Amino acid sequence: AQAQLRQAQKMEAVGQLTGGIAHDFNNMLAVVVGGIELAQRFLSGTPEKAERHLNNALDGANRAADLTRRLLTFARSEPARPEMTVVDDCITGFAELVERTIGDRIALTLDLGAPGLACWLDRRQFENALLNLAVNARDAMEGHGALTIRTLVDETEDTAALAVQVIDTGCGMSAEVLERVFDPFYTTKPAGQGTGLGMSQVFAFCRQSDGEVQIHSTEGEGTSVAMMLPVAQPEQAIASQDDPDEKAVHH
Ligand code: ADP
Repeated sequence: AQAQLRQAQKMEAVGQLTGGIAHDFNNMLAVVVGGIELAQRFLSGTPEKAERHLNNALDGANRAADLTRRLLTFARSEPARPEMTVVDDCITGFAELVERTIGDRIALTLDLGAPGLACWLDRRQFENALLNLAVNARDAMEGHGALTIRTLVDETEDTAALAVQVIDTGCGMSAEVLERVFDPFYTTKPAGQGTGLGMSQVFAFCRQSDGEVQIHSTEGEGTSVAMMLPVAQPEQAIASQDDPDEKAVHH
């Protein structure tokens, strides 16, 4: 059943991609075909014009190849390997890499309010998601800024979620960006700087962990992205002790 669910999630992600990809890919193909057709016309008379059109065609083909490469990397993502993870400890252990990634101009503050609480999640994917959020926060802040990683428990009547908030003092998101932020390949960054996959990976990770993503953002003030993750139930902790190799508890 787990494999089936994974497959369904993968198919859903690929389905979401298809529309946008097909459109972009078609545009690139049009450049290739148009370039070759024009080049054919100039082949005999003005070879330098033919060469220019062939170079355009080559450029389009290279961009199409790059797009499919990125698509394949995304679609072939590794299956999740969930384990009991004490989230605050995991963040503490990962903070140095986050700090190095965001650089000196941004001050990192950890405000961890869920000591000892564990979630059932793929640790590597969690760290990846955290890093994606930190990089986005960094890129949203010009000059100096503050990045806060905060955890807290968000309890309702019958569920407990561990909220992992990544808060920046950056540019914030417009309504249009907010609406499209989880779309694979959606980016507002200059070509070559953003892949547009960071937030869709965060989204996929939270879905896979039975959680969700919440965003609060004000243009010109900043953004807070929260990964809401279910707190592991005691049964899961017991199950992981039965099978220590597969699902070790990490402190
Ligand atoms: P990428 O970072 O490669 O552009 P993402 O999927 O991570 O791809 O993000 C998509 C877009 O969402 C970004 O290009 C940016 O416009 C917007 N965004 C994401 N995080 C933030 C943030 N913390 N503040 C402002 N805008 C953001």
